[in-house]
Order: sequence, then C-alpha cells, then structure tokens
Amino acid sequence: MPTHWYNIQADLPEPLPPPKDPPTGPSRLKALPEMLLTECLRQEASTERWIPIPQEILDLYAQAGRPRPLFRARRLEKALGTPAKMYYKAEFYSPTGSHKVNTALAQAWYAKQEGYERLTTETGAGQWGTALADAASLVGLRTTVYWVRAVHDWKADRRAFMKLYGAEVHASPSPETKVGRELLKRDAKHPGSLGIAVSEGLEDARADDRAIYCLGSVLNHVLLHQTVIGLETKRQFELIGESPDLVISCLGGGSNFGGFALPFLADAVKGKELRFIAAQSESAPNLQGEYRYDFADHAELTPMLKMYTLGHKKEMTPIKGDGLRYHGAAPLLSLLRSLGYIDTVAYPADEKHVFSRARQFIRSEGFLPAPESAYSVACAIDEAEKCKETGEKKTIAFNISGHGFMDMGGYSEVLGL
Ligand SMILES: *Cc1c(COP(=O)(O)O)cnc(C)c1O
Repeated sequence: MPTHWYNIQADLPEPLPPPKDPPTGPSRLKALPEMLLTECLRQEASTERWIPIPQEILDLYAQAGRPRPLFRARRLEKALGTPAKMYYKAEFYSPTGSHKVNTALAQAWYAKQEGYERLTTETGAGQWGTALADAASLVGLRTTVYWVRAVHDWKADRRAFMKLYGAEVHASPSPETKVGRELLKRDAKHPGSLGIAVSEGLEDARADDRAIYCLGSVLNHVLLHQTVIGLETKRQFELIGESPDLVISCLGGGSNFGGFALPFLADAVKGKELRFIAAQSESAPNLQGEYRYDFADHAELTPMLKMYTLGHKKEMTPIKGDGLRYHGAAPLLSLLRSLGYIDTVAYPADEKHVFSRARQFIRSEGFLPAPESAYSVACAIDEAEKCKETGEKKTIAFNISGHGFMDMGGYSEVLGL
C-alpha cells in the first residue's frame, strides 16, 4: 500500500493555470479559505511530488479494503477472442460502492483535525454522498448532503444507505438554501444538477462556522488522494513484470480517471509510449467542450477554473451513470488533454451499448460494475475488439470505479431485464 500520494504538479510539462476571479463581483479567491479545508487548500497548490499519507488515514484505507486487487480478465479475453491482455483494478471492493471513499476518508479526517463538527456536500449519482457520510461517521462528524433531485427521487435504497450512516439528505434544489428556494420558485420539481447542488452545499457551510464543504471530484487535492489507485496498480504491474500500453477509465469530474491514470501519465510526460482514454457520455462530453476559464458551480460561488467545459449553466440529459454528468473536467486532466496526452470517447446517452458491455463483463468476470464504471468496461472491450481486428497484443489496463449493486433499477430499465 502506498505511504504517499503522488502529486503530478511536480512533473507537469507546464505549470497548471491557477484558479482566478471573474471580472466582476466579490472575490471568490479570497473566500476560498472559508470554502475548503486548510490542509486541502494547501495540497491544492502544492508542487511537492510526494505527500505523506497520515497513519490514521492509512488505517482507514486498510479498513476500506486497500490495497485493492488488480485482476487479469482471462475469461473475458477468451470470450472476446482478443489477443489483448486485459487487466482491471477492482475499486468496486469499497464499503460504500465506489472509489470515492479514498478522498472522503482523507477529507473527513482532516476536517476532524481542524475542529469542524459537520460536513456539507453535493452528490449526483449518490456515491459521493454515501462515501462522505461513511467517512464522517467513522471520524465522528455529521454530514448534510444535497442530492440532485433527478437522481434522489428514484434511488430510494441509496438514500436509505446514506441515512444509515447518519447523513441528513435533501433533494436539490432544496428549500434549505437561497439558491435552492429561487430555483424552486421557477419550477417546484426542478430536476437539479451537480452545479446547483455544489452551490447549495457551499451556501449551507458558509452560514455555519462549525461546518465545512467537501468536494468529491475535479479539484487537485481530490485527484491527489485518489492516486492511491494508480500507485497500487503500477506496483501490481511491476510485481508481475508487465506494463500497460493503454490506460482507460470513465470520466465525470475526473477523480477516478485521475487517480488511476496520473501515476502513469507521469511516465508519459517523461516520454514513455502510453495511451490514455477517458470514457464519457454524450450527455456530458466535457472533454470535447472548450478549454477555458469557467465556474465549477451553477451559482458562480466558486473561483473560475481553467478546464474543458460545456458551460456551467449547461443542462444535461439525465443518465443512469449520473456520476458522469458534470459540465467540467478536472483542471489537471484538462491541461494534460490540451497538451495531447488524453483521448476521449463519448457513448450514446441511451446507455444500451455501455450496459450491454457491462453484461458481457459480469458474465465473464462475475462482478457487476457501477453504471459509470460500465463506460470504462465498454471502452476497454471496444479497444480489445479493435486488437482482434488488427492482431495487436496490447496490454489494456482499466479501472472499475465502483459496483452496481444499488443500481439494478438502471440496468433493468436499459437492458429490459
Ligand atoms: C462519481 C463516480 C464516477 C465519476 O466521477 P469521477 O470524479 O470522474 O471519478 C465514476 N464512477 C463512480 C463509481 C462514481 O461514483
């Protein structure tokens, strides 16, 4: 298990464009210390290559099942008849269902050290809200979750799961905040969006000195915490004397893709021949958007970040892999994409293709991926199929960011089960 997180900021080919203030309105940069944990803000701007993981967080990681296995998908390879070797990282062995516990545990532990009593946050698919509720309960904090209504209303089981951990859960937009009340006035059944839920979580935390807001993706410190995934994977490849040619994962805001890929991207930046593909939905193909400064939230409470974006007011069709529905991609990954290191593919929003690929996966490998992870699986299988046509013996590494045990409704609907 890694003892340090890897910070790609030490090895970027050019410096990361810093967050900045919009031309008008109050300074968001000055408000940042009220928005983020002191330690996370420090990590956000750090250019130290290796950041030690506190022992208490390592213990929490061990309890959450780290290190996690890397499997060779032999039966899947055989079923496909591909000459490619396919390896997948099993982030689905997570107590809450996703890789998000890797940063939730770190953020909750830091919040406790910094004297806070309550965490506020947003969630889309519900995975981040569950991970933070779990982490908060383990370190003795309360959690308030603002959950995109379009998802909140149909995921009753995950709502119960969050509440079991002790979280207070609101459908967003909610009557709890000013942003929420204004949107509800226009539409009492407003479906919400991640950007709106971020605004609500921020507003709530800023009105209470004992509360702090936590973000589950996009920011540098979140990707930093997630590098345990890629660091373990690299070590696992070393142990078997292999190394990937192709690194694949799904990308919403970029935390699981970043966590998995950044340790390998470090090698690519140094000149190693390696290809990276981020699998996305046509509902939110943010990596095909514009590379420019944009807000991270709907209400423009955050500083502007330089990222590939669809625009922070963009309305996106709901999908079952709702964790992939966010308007912008992490600034770190956006920079690397602008420099040509990261390719992307966007799958149709009806999700028939990705879920059929997930079905192939479960029948060969026995494990049900989360709807978001199904995009990673689909991309890996599509690439393995290409190898079959060309006869190339590529080594494909893909990350399975979570399990789909709580998303059976989505699978049933799309595949007609
Ligand atoms: C949240 C989530 C994602 C998408 O978010 P990223 O920050 O892009 O990783 C992907 N997979 C799962 C299982 C998730 O919970």
